[in-house]
Amino acid sequence: MRRSKFLKLKIREASFITRALLSSRHPVLAHIIPMRRCNLACGYCNEYDHTSSPVPFDVMKRRLDKLADLGTSIVTISGGEPMMHPQLDDIIQHIRSRGMIAGLISNGYYFTPERSKRLNKAGLEYLQISIDNVDPDEVSRKSLRVLDKKLRYLAEHSDFHVNINSVIGGGIKKPEDALTVARRAVALGFSSTVGVIHDNDGTLKPLSEREKTIFQHVKKLGNRDHARLNWFQDSIAEGKPYEWRCRSGARYLYICEEGLVHWCSQQRGYPGIPLEDYTMKDFEREYSTEKWCAPTCTLQCVHQVGILDNWRDPQHAPGATKAASTLNDTIQEVLRAE
Ligand code: SF4
Ligand code: SF4
Repeated sequence: MRRSKFLKLKIREASFITRALLSSRHPVLAHIIPMRRCNLACGYCNEYDHTSSPVPFDVMKRRLDKLADLGTSIVTISGGEPMMHPQLDDIIQHIRSRGMIAGLISNGYYFTPERSKRLNKAGLEYLQISIDNVDPDEVSRKSLRVLDKKLRYLAEHSDFHVNINSVIGGGIKKPEDALTVARRAVALGFSSTVGVIHDNDGTLKPLSEREKTIFQHVKKLGNRDHARLNWFQDSIAEGKPYEWRCRSGARYLYICEEGLVHWCSQQRGYPGIPLEDYTMKDFEREYSTEKWCAPTCTLQCVHQVGILDNWRDPQHAPGATKAASTLNDTIQEVLRAE
């Protein structure tokens, strides 16, 4: 990424963070799905199909306009594999034209020098590629051996920030692959992050001693800003729950291909309200709702958004809103009677 563009992006980020600290009444980050279809079929993934059509651009545009009207700072396009959407560049351009930061999560398979140049022109600012292993196996083909050529194209032609995410835990066979992936990312001039994932059965189990050592090595190699923001991972690595306030449905939004707002990719159906009908009343309810899945949550970006508000506005369990307002009403009634 050119230095001048990088500096401009950092200044915009700083202004968005300041705005988020001053006011809690707008979304900070939205993940939006323009296409559920994917060219791969990773064994652990519940976020793809092989048949669905792209969401038409005019529908995407309306959804992006609504996000902009809600005051959203960053929009990250995810999938499925969003590079399969025929109008991805138009979607990115529209995000930028509405003053929001444009990010993309991809499996990397479709990158060519030409495609990188088109994404530069569209105004892409962030790209994240997750690489699960060095050699493809029956669980994942998001593999360094397959993607290395694509990473070299990106190093040469991209004018956007590239982050490579590796993973540890969850039955990934060779934890040392994460270190190989992170070293390659750094050698190519990219930032690197590492995700700790749950065991296959979804329970919270500590990493093995070998996994923990590699995890600490990979973290040291990676982006220091991300490491600072990802304290929760140390608890998860030890198999311990982490206390925080998940603000999904408010400060973080997940918009599926049908245009419904969900807490996140792993909690689809809550609240499941169409984005076009989403109001500040919905925002406020979700902002204040304690999420039962928070202590074992591993979703890095939602944790990072949560940091902005962890110090204020305690949450309550779903269903407690009514009771709290009833108590409030009761006190007010008593005061009025007095
Ligand atoms: S590439 Fe991504 S969306 Fe596609 S199957 Fe793998 S994890 Fe899921
Ligand atoms: S705590 Fe994690 S899994 Fe639960 S809703 Fe929030 S982001 Fe999703």
